[in-house]
Order: sequence, then structure tokens, then C-alpha cells
Amino acid sequence: MQPMDKLPLDLAWQSDGHVTDVVLTAMADGEEAIVPEEALGHVEACEHCTFRLGSEALLSVQVDGEMAALAAPAPAKAIVPARKAPKVAIGVAIAVAGIGAAPAFMLDVAPRAPEFFKTIIWAASMLAQSAVVVSRSELFTALVWASALVLVLAGLLMSRAKVSNHSLQEGGV
Ligand SMILES: [Zn+2]
Repeated sequence: MQPMDKLPLDLAWQSDGHVTDVVLTAMADGEEAIVPEEALGHVEACEHCTFRLGSEALLSVQVDGEMAALAAPAPAKAIVPARKAPKVAIGVAIAVAGIGAAPAFMLDVAPRAPEFFKTIIWAASMLAQSAVVVSRSELFTALVWASALVLVLAGLLMSRAKVSNHSLQEGGV
């Protein structure tokens, strides 16, 4: 007679003489205590049942892994900013450059305002064309590139404004 906490023999043994899946599942789950001694001995001695136990243990691990994956929160997807962001950044950069150039405009360029605005429009159209290109590239690269371009253009505008004012004073119109 098996003790009461062991699997009944008719649940432990198949009609073909090998142990049942119940035994293998119990062993895979670390519940050897409920498996009759004879069944444990058979699995260790029987190549066929050892192989089945290996498959059962592998299946148990896979199920545990899938359960853990289901329980774990899904990885947060990287939120890709909208493609129009570079154009917005370029617009802000143009505004900042304009604010920086304003004192020079007020002091030096007012007499030559039409030429100055032509230069501004040229720079803006260059930026607009560039924005189409940079909007297809990575956001960060576009931001750095646009900022650098705006700074260069602002520098060009300042130097052009001073040259224009200088020639205005010397040449006399
Ligand atoms: Zn067997």
C-alpha cells in the first residue's frame, strides 16, 4: 500500500509499463514527494521516461516564462515626435535670430531696410528648402543642423548689414 500523500498507483503507471504524465509533471514541478518510489526509480532507469521528463520540464519552464511575460508590463514604445517638430524648431530659431539681429537693424540697417528684408527673405527661403530635407532625417540631427545654420545665417546677416551701412555712409546715396 502507498501512503495517502503519494499518487495512487493507477495514476502513476500507464498500461504500457511506463509512468504517466502525471508523474512526469509532478517531477518537473519539483513535487517528487507525491510520486511513488517505484515510479521515481523507473524514470531514472528508463531512457524513454527520462526523455519524457526532460520534455515535460522544458514545457514547464516555457509555460512559466510565458506566464511571467504576460504578467510583466509591456515595454513602453518610444514615442516618436511628429515630423513637423523640426520646422517648428527652425521657426523658433529664426525668431531668436531675428530678436538678436533687431538692435543691429534698428541702429545700422534702417536706412537700407528693403535690402535687409530681401536678405531675410532669402535666408528664410533657404531655411524652408532645407527644412524639407532635414524633416526627413532624425529629429535630433535636424535640430542641431538647423540651429547651426540659423546661427551662421544670423552672423552673415549681421556682417552684411554692417558692410551695407558702411558703404552707405562712405559712398553716400
Ligand atoms: Zn519508462
